[in-house]
Amino acid sequence: MNRPVISVVVPAYNEEMNVKPLYDRLLDVLTQISASFEIIFIDDGSRDDTVAEVLKIRALDERVKLVSFSRNFGHEMANTAGFRTASGDAVVIIDADLQDPPELILDMFEKYRAGFDVVYAKRKTRKKESFIKKSTSKMFYRVLKFMSDTEIPLDTGDFRLLSRRAVDEINRFSEKNRFFRGLTHWIGFKVTYVYFDRDERYAGETKYSYIKLMKLAIDAILSFSYKPLKLFSLFGFLSAGFGFLLMLYWMIKKIIFGNPTNGWTSTVTIMLFFFGILMMQVSVVGEYIARIYEEVRARPLYIVGRTEGVAPEIVSDKN
Ligand code: UDP
Ligand code: MG
Repeated sequence: MNRPVISVVVPAYNEEMNVKPLYDRLLDVLTQISASFEIIFIDDGSRDDTVAEVLKIRALDERVKLVSFSRNFGHEMANTAGFRTASGDAVVIIDADLQDPPELILDMFEKYRAGFDVVYAKRKTRKKESFIKKSTSKMFYRVLKFMSDTEIPLDTGDFRLLSRRAVDEINRFSEKNRFFRGLTHWIGFKVTYVYFDRDERYAGETKYSYIKLMKLAIDAILSFSYKPLKLFSLFGFLSAGFGFLLMLYWMIKKIIFGNPTNGWTSTVTIMLFFFGILMMQVSVVGEYIARIYEEVRARPLYIVGRTEGVAPEIVSDKN
């Protein structure tokens, strides 16, 4: 099979209204680069007509391909399947909702031609997203930066271009809890940025509830660092030291002044506080253990229900 010059991967979960407009804009951009391209829609178990919309386009343009999951496996898994499927020399990943302007692919491709392996699209501004979303997202990237041992680019979504060798490296990862935005940095290679203003969603609603975002944030932090553990052991160490000093103070006080019965408040507050810390500490350890359990259990990352234009064994989950 001939390798296309560029592959575009589109994870899509209930995006029926966005498929056609996205295709139109992509087509316009991609033909400027080369006629040899492929657009791979990864349907993440949509319940609406996303699949039908993709097939309608595929009937007219064979370069449009479909991988459809048996159920919703989440955005990161859709990305994973997309990278395993994409065969192009350069691979772009783009959201289905047109929040990432396809026209930017031209700039990204130019950078790729200039020898960069990873080209991030960095948001300058975001339109019409709630203040809470913007500020939590800003905060998230800062906390992540502080917490993680790998550098993770600030304020970038998933929209990015990867060279063939970068994609091949990404495809070697087998971990379950993955934070793709960090992995592309972890692999190294030459990295650069292009800048854009983030648009509003074209149609439909965001698929990320705050709960899902929380989970993403926790995954991101835990899969990239041991700092939560280290912070808690530091805290445990400090509080034990402080407790020891208090103990000395109280013992000496008792020897000199006898045994006054007051002191209930201090005892109870200290107990509450430190039991709280202890529980948090145990649950952080639990989070890591749960992750180890998931990895050891080694279930497949996702299940493919149907493919069109893609050989099933290419996308099948090998892990
Ligand atoms: N998405 C997906 N599976 C999910 C959730 C989202 O494939 O479980 C896709 C979605 O269709 C979109 C992209 O991931 O193409 C980004 O999602 P969304 O636009 O809802 O996120 P936001 O832009 O609000 O952060
Ligand atoms: Mg979006």
